[in-house]
Amino acid sequence: MPDENLKYLLSLNERQREAACSDISIPLMIVAGPGSGKTSTMVGRVLMLLNEGISASNILAMTFTTAAAAEMRDRIGAVAGKATAKQLTISTFHSFSLQLCRSHAEKLERTPEFLIYGHGQQRRAIIEAVRLSEDEKSRKNLSVAIVGEESNSITSPHHYKDASRKWQKFVTQAKASGKTPAECRKMDDETGGKILGNYNDILKSCNALDYHDLISCSVKLLTDFPEVLKECQDLWKAIVIDEFQDTSAMQYSFLRILASHNHITIVGDDDQSIFSFNGADISGFDSFRRDFPNYKEIRLNKNYRSTRYIVEAASSVIKNNKKRCQLKNVETDNSSGYKVIIKESHNEDAQCAFVVDKILETASNRSDAGCSYGNIAILYRRQVSGKVFQTALRERKIPFNIHGVAVYRKKVVRAIIAMVKTTLPDCDDGSYRQVFKALLPFEKEEKKKCKTFWTLKRTQLTQGRKVLLTLEMISKLVHREQSISAVITSVANMVPQKYLLEQRAVIDVDGGKLLNEDNDVRSVLQYLLDDISDFLSTHFVAGQGDREVVKEKGCVSLLKAFIDCISERESENFRSRRHENQSSVTLTTIHQSKGLEWDIVFIIKVNESEIPLLHEFNGVAKENGTSIEEERRLLYVAMTRARRKLFILYVTMDSNWQMLQPSRFLKEIPNHLREVQADISTQDLQSKNPDTSKGTTRSTADLQPNVQPSEVDSVQNDFHHSKFDEASAELIELAEGNSGNGFLKRFSVDER
Ligand code: ATP
Ligand code: MG
Repeated sequence: MPDENLKYLLSLNERQREAACSDISIPLMIVAGPGSGKTSTMVGRVLMLLNEGISASNILAMTFTTAAAAEMRDRIGAVAGKATAKQLTISTFHSFSLQLCRSHAEKLERTPEFLIYGHGQQRRAIIEAVRLSEDEKSRKNLSVAIVGEESNSITSPHHYKDASRKWQKFVTQAKASGKTPAECRKMDDETGGKILGNYNDILKSCNALDYHDLISCSVKLLTDFPEVLKECQDLWKAIVIDEFQDTSAMQYSFLRILASHNHITIVGDDDQSIFSFNGADISGFDSFRRDFPNYKEIRLNKNYRSTRYIVEAASSVIKNNKKRCQLKNVETDNSSGYKVIIKESHNEDAQCAFVVDKILETASNRSDAGCSYGNIAILYRRQVSGKVFQTALRERKIPFNIHGVAVYRKKVVRAIIAMVKTTLPDCDDGSYRQVFKALLPFEKEEKKKCKTFWTLKRTQLTQGRKVLLTLEMISKLVHREQSISAVITSVANMVPQKYLLEQRAVIDVDGGKLLNEDNDVRSVLQYLLDDISDFLSTHFVAGQGDREVVKEKGCVSLLKAFIDCISERESENFRSRRHENQSSVTLTTIHQSKGLEWDIVFIIKVNESEIPLLHEFNGVAKENGTSIEEERRLLYVAMTRARRKLFILYVTMDSNWQMLQPSRFLKEIPNHLREVQADISTQDLQSKNPDTSKGTTRSTADLQPNVQPSEVDSVQNDFHHSKFDEASAELIELAEGNSGNGFLKRFSVDER
């Protein structure tokens, strides 16, 4: 065994080493709490597999987020060498299945260039499917209605639009559980069966799949085509899965079939399951026990990451969850450290000022937690809460990186943006060049000829004409679409598969951090759509949605404003990357922070209405036990990211002067583990104006939420109607799990 590998295995504790080195032919399950070295053990396991003679290219490692995949590749690369790490397939489920489906597209009755329908396109297809189910005669017009000029089915009568929401939920649920139209009919759901059947036909006629299809089609490829199964099993001789708790039932089926050789290791923590809206199903652990009866289970219970106060505070929150399948005793030998600081601020600006001051204080006093900017993270529930921090950090010259911003340096994203830019006035030659590179499959010499739009127009190349046609199509889209999200989604789908495959070789963007799979349109589209929703909510009047703003300002000017905004942000990140040894504060959503760690963590806006996020799409409060438990897990994940200092912040008022309550979960942290800091300006405010302070006069140490139902409703309604446009409301709906198919599902914040 190479020295480095041995050294690594020796650095593990006994139980971790036992797990890493256990017989590779016995299915292995590692269940353990946060910071206990699950991912570290998995790295050891991969090293062991390599040592047993399994080639790196035969090892498949699955993670849930792209950030986690990058982290794992880094960790393996640090021990086994970058070259070996590069050969491993470390992938998220979605990009893995996308590639599998593309490679066998004809078996799925698609061409390899098939489109991936996002939420909006799926909605349109469903409107059409509902219409067809009521009017079978129009079936013959089906593909024209969806693909052709008439694709603006959004203009269909309201009747269909209203019904579509319900049916979209139905279709996604049916797909998540693998139900076929025939099965729906068998269960006496004639209409459901018909609509599902029509929907599938529409997608087929449009050469498209939706995000659920990617997983179910992968399962189908393995079950219906023995040659595909053999090919996959010959290739993937060993499989390791991190964050197993976030695996959906369908994804699990896929793994079960693929791993019939038993060389499978799963690693997870049910307490950290935060993607149930995405179909994640912690019963996967039980399924694993049933399907791999000779499995070996190893539990790790020592937290190496965090100080004792943080470990105990997090444990005291999570223990309030009733549905915990595997109780884990998490302990630590680390010192007590600092108590968890719970900080009240009177509004988001004050909260931001506090955080920024603390960051500067820490940076100037390196002995305090010994922290550089790179060891600090600001975590939030929704991207939009991070906006105010960007401005403040910029003003105070603190370098920062927004998780995911590297996305704008990816060639695929550049190509998408360039394609959109060609429809805007004053499009630069650089953008045309990028478009040509992306759209023209011909060789270097020919590409040189097409340096500008005008030379392209003059060329007689057939390929050149194809590019022009695409550009014309995009231009039409810009003039026809009623939202910029729809334009970006459609354009993303026009990037040729050939180009995407070419770009897979491009790894070395962010210091080697980015994975080849990142160039998968699906995962980058998530960031783009999230950004559009952020952009709209920060730049436009509250309550105005994508469509409304487009109606008022026009699609062209809105797209231009959006592109200007992201260019500015990218140059911001570029500047900050050069600053201070590339060390910068991380801004990220909690969902994207999974598996990662920082010395100092600020969790901001830990308020009722945020964590837990209680809004039902129609404004009615939702408080069923399961979703509250998932919300508690979300806070648990956030708290357990901190190594040495944890700040939990909440505000007492939103920007519309509506009172906000601290999250109910905060009172679950016992007094002896926390230090509560009131906001001085809130106290000032209370003494000056007792009326406006109504409701805030209670002791800040008493964090009882004490929310009246009417208050919840009014905050929620206000939140829902005044602050969010359709796109972000949709995001909330999806993040809440009201729909089985969401932005995060589709792209897994990423993403999700
Ligand atoms: P999460 O549940 O958040 O994904 P995890 O269980 O995967 O956490 P790791 O990220 O592997 O935990 O490890 C947490 C931290 O503890 C890392 O900094 C890692 O280097 C350290 N660590 C893990 N095992 C050991 C060990 N045996 N000795 C010292 N440090 C360790
Ligand atoms: Mg981990």
